[in-house]
Amino acid sequence: MLVAVLIGTGGSEGVPVPGCVCPACNEARIYHFAKRRTASVFLTSYGTSVMIDMSLDASSYIEELYLDAVFITHWHHDHISGLYKFRWIEKPVDLYAPSGDVDPEIKHFPKSLRLKFVKPFRTIDLGDMEVTPLPLNHTIETFGYLIEVGSRESIAILYDTKLLPPETEALLKKKNVKVALIDATVAPGTKDPKHNNVDEAVKIGQDIGAEEIVLTHISHRNLPFSRLIKYVRERWDNVYVAYDGMLVYVV
Ligand SMILES: [Zn+2]
Ligand SMILES: [Zn+2]
Ligand SMILES: [Zn+2]
Repeated sequence: MLVAVLIGTGGSEGVPVPGCVCPACNEARIYHFAKRRTASVFLTSYGTSVMIDMSLDASSYIEELYLDAVFITHWHHDHISGLYKFRWIEKPVDLYAPSGDVDPEIKHFPKSLRLKFVKPFRTIDLGDMEVTPLPLNHTIETFGYLIEVGSRESIAILYDTKLLPPETEALLKKKNVKVALIDATVAPGTKDPKHNNVDEAVKIGQDIGAEEIVLTHISHRNLPFSRLIKYVRERWDNVYVAYDGMLVYVV
């Protein structure tokens, strides 16, 4: 069984943003469940555990976890800032990442991290997991990841992106994707050149035939948590709004 732990589900600022009084930030100050750390996912199967992205908030969390490898989607600060602390880990760990826009501090002073560059669609075998990098549409080189355990358990991590490149969409359509975690940074109707709004994210999941769609990387520019839940429940049965600490069983 493959399990994903959504350690952080926010956009680059997290929610609430210090000093911001928008409805999403105000709600998050009242209700703890509406707070969002920056994006990181811990994935574990019977024999293998990996982290997808390492936000600042995730670096303290992982002290309790054994990791076989860390995968980075792209080198934006909200996805890598936890690496500055994590690199001091005692035992060396493989760090798979895009070669574009590498953070100079991590590149030159990796300490225990063994930096390896991923190539589009070149699958990495890690114990019982197969991890395939998928090009995405963002401001710098960015890869989503398809993680497969056997032929039946698969989860696609698709952020940060604006829609999908045709070759990524074509590959995912051929796969039996059980769960897709998709960038839904901004509110329905909002246009953003670098990220999806909620409806765009759902359409991506439907187009690739994902059985379950989980919206994540949600910023304060999206609807407040409670209104977003209502919006999604009124429209779709297989779409879920991520929250920090959410467990996703891929079975
Ligand atoms: Zn991001
Ligand atoms: Zn706000
Ligand atoms: Zn980004």
